[in-house]
Amino acid sequence: MKVLVVDDDAVDRERLKRLLKGPDIAITEATTVDEGVEAYNLDHFDMVLLDYRMPQRDGIEMLRELRCLPRESSVAIVMMSTCEDEELALECLKSGAQDFIPKNEISRSRLMRAIAHSHTRFELEKELWASYRQVKQMAERDALTGLANRYLFDETLKLAVTGNVRNEHKVALILFDIDNFKFINDTYGHDIGDLMLKRAVDRVRSCLRGDELFCRLGGDEFAIAVANCKDIKTANSIATRVKNIFIKPYQIEGQNISSSISIGIAIHPDNANTASDLYKQADIAMYRAKRKGKNCICFFESQMQKQFSHRFLVEQDLRDSDFDNDLFLLYQPILSGKTQQIIGGEALLRWHYNGKVNTPDKFISIAEDSHLILEIGEWVASNAFKQLAEWDKSLSPDLFISINLSPKQLSEKNLVNFISSEIDKYQLNPANIQLEITETAFLGNASQIIRSINGLHELGCRVALDDFGTGFSSISHLRVFPIDTVKIDKSILPEDSAEGKSNALFSGLCTMLHALGLKVTVEGVETKEQLELCSSMHIDNMQGYFFSKPISVEAFSSYFNTKKKLRKVNQK
Ligand code: C2E
Ligand code: MG
Ligand code: MG
Repeated sequence: MKVLVVDDDAVDRERLKRLLKGPDIAITEATTVDEGVEAYNLDHFDMVLLDYRMPQRDGIEMLRELRCLPRESSVAIVMMSTCEDEELALECLKSGAQDFIPKNEISRSRLMRAIAHSHTRFELEKELWASYRQVKQMAERDALTGLANRYLFDETLKLAVTGNVRNEHKVALILFDIDNFKFINDTYGHDIGDLMLKRAVDRVRSCLRGDELFCRLGGDEFAIAVANCKDIKTANSIATRVKNIFIKPYQIEGQNISSSISIGIAIHPDNANTASDLYKQADIAMYRAKRKGKNCICFFESQMQKQFSHRFLVEQDLRDSDFDNDLFLLYQPILSGKTQQIIGGEALLRWHYNGKVNTPDKFISIAEDSHLILEIGEWVASNAFKQLAEWDKSLSPDLFISINLSPKQLSEKNLVNFISSEIDKYQLNPANIQLEITETAFLGNASQIIRSINGLHELGCRVALDDFGTGFSSISHLRVFPIDTVKIDKSILPEDSAEGKSNALFSGLCTMLHALGLKVTVEGVETKEQLELCSSMHIDNMQGYFFSKPISVEAFSSYFNTKKKLRKVNQK
């Protein structure tokens, strides 16, 4: 055993040496605290016997210095003093000594006992410390990335905000999440998803200075808190660096994965006074970044708070509404391009709310964010199918109905079963049902969406791709999915024939879609000129205000019957 004796009194040192004498004990002497610290740093000791009272610096100073070192490299310490004061003994024990012996009690057996006890106590303390560290790590760290977790984040953000009492600087909270991470997980599997999260964390770390708090709040959501932020520009430049670090695709297990992030930023004290408000505002800003089309940075603005509260209120009211009383469907006639007869109708949803009739732009995206769209979607399908069964008898068995499906509905396992059971319930011909999907669906839960689209097609329903020309209009989707019809968005239809480029785009698009064997429906036909353009392009079906706006069931029936009579007259 190697023992370091630190004592300024030569007589006491000699006495200790004599008492400890033995083949297993090697003693090193130091006469001051400075000498003691130097000796300690040069060698490894099992035990330090430390005198309390010494000139220049007291033994307790050395004790405290040694206790500041990492536990693993620390050592058992026995303090000694000529004084028998109990308070002094307690102070030494509190400061980290394992034992305290008054010098007048020192004997070989007392010393050996103190050394043995101190040693065992010190080892136990070390074990306790290690398990404390482990528990702390588990409580505060995210197991996958090793980043601080939500608990540590909340605590640290609170401290940073409350510590900024005089608002001398700013605390910036940067929240971000990976765009379409669910898609990545679903497409490549969770193991690759996890690896990507780890790589993303390494990349982000590499562009931070290190004094920020970077943590994983859960899933693919992360936060960076910058406690001493000079100004908004600093927060913006950190966020921009983080955003740009995602540009390069990830190479993981042979897969080339592209991704981007949406970032929301809120600043204390500018936007919020408390940590929880700051988090809410940054979350609202991030939500806004997502809605702006992802891959961008949004700072919180008070206007957002208003819009957020509005959306929240609308969501509550929509949840509380009685669908059968408050929701209703209008039908927009769909006409054959060849005969200009009504061949079907698109069901378009309306909501009686706040004394007004509200169009889908006021509530569909809110319903989608809150999953209410699933219930609403079922209500729409069920009511539209019931209507088709009535038309079947009262108007014509050849009419078809078209309903809009939200990507959220397509991500549901139950969708195909539901549609199938409703078809059975109303005894419909599935070929008279068209389901409209939008390209945003392809960004979601890919495997489930593919299953849903294939399932609907296998039921015998028609699948139409709606609003073509507004999104990313990928041709590959048209080949991969069983799509029967493409609905060209009204924004693509030229307003007048003088628009050379628009005309070329429109006619090129129609030719390409026909060449792919797809049926083409043009939406938003408003003028005779547009109708003629559609006719010249042999468009299959048309829809638009030129023929009719979305109308009630009664108006639809009378429009259908008038058209039918007109046709008969013309034929005569
Ligand atoms: P959409 O499916 O593309 O429907 C066509 C929209 O264009 C309708 O707006 C219709 O009123 C409007 N429109 C039709 N012809 C013309 C025209 O000639 N000129 C102009 N300027 N507009 C025309 P609406 O009814 O406000 O619906 C908007 C969108 O809301 C729909 O676009 C659809 O994406 C969504 N939506 C409507 N009903 C439902 C529903 O039941 N479920 C879901 N998930 N979405 C729905
Ligand atoms: Mg539609
Ligand atoms: Mg459309």
